[in-house]
Amino acid sequence: MKCYKCGKDEVKGTRKELRPYGPGGQNTCFECATADPETEKACGDEFQKRLNEALKSSKLILLDDDGPVPIVILPREKKRQ
Ligand SMILES: [Zn+2]
Repeated sequence: MKCYKCGKDEVKGTRKELRPYGPGGQNTCFECATADPETEKACGDEFQKRLNEALKSSKLILLDDDGPVPIVILPREKKRQ
């Protein structure tokens, strides 16, 4: 997996870790995502869009590598008597 902008490979646990907040959901590294105010805003908007979508399903959100994921808690089963 490579950053759409700089083309560098992902390095987990660093700022080269990629997230899908580039244009059209392309993968981008932190440095490219925050390189200039315009790109940073576009990436922020993409993140917000995905977060809003996830919030439709749950108020609990997991920030996964692929973006925000809703956590759905299943109703507890009744205790057996
Ligand atoms: Zn990059």
